[in-house]
Amino acid sequence: MLNFSELKKIIENHSTFLVTTHVNPDADAIGSQMALYNILKKLNKQVYAINHSPTPYYLEFLDENSAIEKYDAGKHNTIIEQCGVIIIADLNYVNRTVRMEKAIRNSSAVKVCIDHHQDPEDFFDYKFSSTEYSATGEIIYDFLKETGITDIDISTAEKIYAAIMTDTGSFRFERTSPKIHRIMAELLEIGVNPTLVYDRIYDRSRFCKIKLLGESLSGIKLNDEKNLSWMVITKEMLSRTCADEADVDGFVNFCLSIENVKIGILFFELKEGIKISFRSKGNIMVNKLAGEFGGGGHINASGARVTNKKLDACIAEVLEKAKKYLPK
Ligand code: 5GP
Ligand code: MN
Repeated sequence: MLNFSELKKIIENHSTFLVTTHVNPDADAIGSQMALYNILKKLNKQVYAINHSPTPYYLEFLDENSAIEKYDAGKHNTIIEQCGVIIIADLNYVNRTVRMEKAIRNSSAVKVCIDHHQDPEDFFDYKFSSTEYSATGEIIYDFLKETGITDIDISTAEKIYAAIMTDTGSFRFERTSPKIHRIMAELLEIGVNPTLVYDRIYDRSRFCKIKLLGESLSGIKLNDEKNLSWMVITKEMLSRTCADEADVDGFVNFCLSIENVKIGILFFELKEGIKISFRSKGNIMVNKLAGEFGGGGHINASGARVTNKKLDACIAEVLEKAKKYLPK
């Protein structure tokens, strides 16, 4: 059990807050961050929402008043230094705030982690973190219900709904429990429109994203045993289709949708380095595999960024290392 009354006390005892989240934010990241933003605003706190990354276009509806500011050291370092509390949602390692990391580490603010990844780093003063949770949004829901610090209005409900919907893979991943559906029922009663939330996130793709998906799918590969599948997106594919980095979110899941495949990997060539996304079924711990390349994440969904390798060499090395995680 997380000690939510402690979090309530931290909030009550401070007046200025920064809420932030990880690089390349997903719906759980932005949804949780902005649910916290709403809660703090309702309590008449001074709140800043500042992120390393811009908000992907399909998540902008979760920031309906455009409160999120893109980090600018000159503009924001004083805020980061002088605010009372920094709440970091949906991440376990501060380096996942990338350009903001240094300022956060140097700040004298109380640092709070609200997250559901494994082993958050010791740096935080307070950790409200457990891998038992399907999403960071679920932790925020429990915090609200347990402490009654504010009610759940429609805007907050929509953010929590989006967070949980996406991090449970639209209610199909392992942590989709009766409790999750009860939470969803309550959020629908508050007025969340599930068709609309799904539509905003998944059914408003830009044409170029679908073209890139098509190209990525036609290049998908299987190992000889047909239990490992991988996809490659090169810089050239990205620039030719005019898609952007955020468009690639979710592509890796297609690798796992092939029969018998237990591990799916996406290699995504960035301007600098390669982002690798790992997905697995059952008890195959791809977070360990990601860890071999300096990354991490959840048992069945992890990632890493590799900066010192050529794409082909990186693919060969990862596929070789992945072998030992496959069922014998
Ligand atoms: P995705 O493949 O969707 O970008 O990331 C899946 C999960 O892997 C994320 O929720 C996050 O927990 C983790 N992850 C992704 N990239 C990194 C990384 O570079 N480092 C670490 N530690 N975790 C990552
Ligand atoms: Mn999450």
